[in-house]
Order: sequence, then structure tokens, then C-alpha cells
Amino acid sequence: MIEEKIRELRAELPEGVELVAVSKFHPAEAVLEGYRAGQRRFGESRVQELLAKIPQLPDDIQWHFIGHLQTNKVRSLMGKTAMIESVDSDKLLRLIDRESARAGVMTRVLMQIHVAREETKFGFYPEELFEWFADRRFESLTNTHICGIMGMASNIDDEERVRRDFTDIRSAFDRIRLDIAPDLRGFDTLSMGMSGDWPLAVECGSNLVRIGSAIFGPRNY
Ligand SMILES: *Cc1c(COP(=O)(O)O)cnc(C)c1O
Repeated sequence: MIEEKIRELRAELPEGVELVAVSKFHPAEAVLEGYRAGQRRFGESRVQELLAKIPQLPDDIQWHFIGHLQTNKVRSLMGKTAMIESVDSDKLLRLIDRESARAGVMTRVLMQIHVAREETKFGFYPEELFEWFADRRFESLTNTHICGIMGMASNIDDEERVRRDFTDIRSAFDRIRLDIAPDLRGFDTLSMGMSGDWPLAVECGSNLVRIGSAIFGPRNY
């Protein structure tokens, strides 16, 4: 079932759009089923859960961390992820950079942008992000590679609103990439779209979708 879902999804995704299969709250066996379908990128949102799964699964899995990352957990993630998609503060980013240097690794990250209505969502507001890049705060990073932006649309059943959120995220990405910091290398990843809204996200320019329940079924929190 999981293998089939992954095959279906990959067939539907246009070329150039990568799939992160979000396996949070599902056991390692479920990840392995996805792996058998050729899937290599998996997403997790809790550090303990990710660290527990890693030793149970093949080494060539590329783990994307997508949850809010607490500063006291940063050290334990160093060298374990292909990407941390959820950098939501300058403080967290500085810490990731310091800990990456200490561990002798390069960490790939996305800056999380906040455009959705929900107050609970983490991330930089677009204006904060523009200022951050305009101030060239990235220049002092030695062991962190900023690969792009991750964002979520409002979690509501209103297609126009969701489309507007994705368009706002896309515009912020383009503004940074083309106007504010065109010299920033490898800033090319726009991560948006989940189970309920990925086709719209792809239409709006996403090149990395994070899909969980549509692959693995509902989560038991
Ligand atoms: C859980 C989660 C997803 C996947 O959500 P689904 O609706 O199950 O596809 C994607 N992105 C983030 C940041 C998440 O926390």
C-alpha cells in the first residue's frame, strides 16, 4: 500500500519536483516500505523519533528535519540530516552553524517563512526574512548552507486563501533569490505543499513537497 502510494505520487509529480515522504509518527517498517519503492527522502518532525529510526534503517536515507527544533537538541542532529527545513530564528541558525563547525560537518538548511493565518506556526515573517538577507547575515556562516525556503499555507479549506499563501511564499523566495541576494549560491529550493494542498503548491512553483498522511495514512498522535 505505501509502496503503491509512493509510486503513484512520484508519477504525478512533475519533473524537478522532489518528494519528501513525511514518516513522523509511523514506525521504521513503514519507512522501509517506502524505501522499497525507491524513496530515499523522508521527513521527521521530532528529534527523538528521528534518532530512534536512523539506526533501524538503511544508511542512504536522506532525512529532512521539518519540525520546530529546540536549541538543546541541535547538537544531537549534527551530521544526521540531509536538510533541516525548519530554521525559524536567527538564534537557531547561529547555533546550527556553531554546532556544525564543532562537529566538522556542513549542514544544509531552509529558512522557514510564516505567511499562514495560524498563530501557532513558526517561522520568519517575510519582512524579517528580507531584512535578514539584505543585511547579508548569511555571510558570517561557515558551516551552514542556506538552500532556500520552506513554508506552509493556512490550514483551511479555502482554495483562494491557500493559493494566496503559496504565491506569497513563492514571491518571497524569488525576491530573495533574484533581487536581494542574487549572489547567494545554491539558493534554489522552495519547499511547500503537503498531502492536502500539494498540487496547488506545485502550481505555485514548489520544487519540494512534504507529504505524510497521503502516503502513510492518518497519524496516531
Ligand atoms: C506533518 C508535516 C507535513 C506532512 O503533513 P501531511 O498533511 O500529513 O502530508 C508536512 N510539513 C510539515 C512541516 C509537517 O509538520
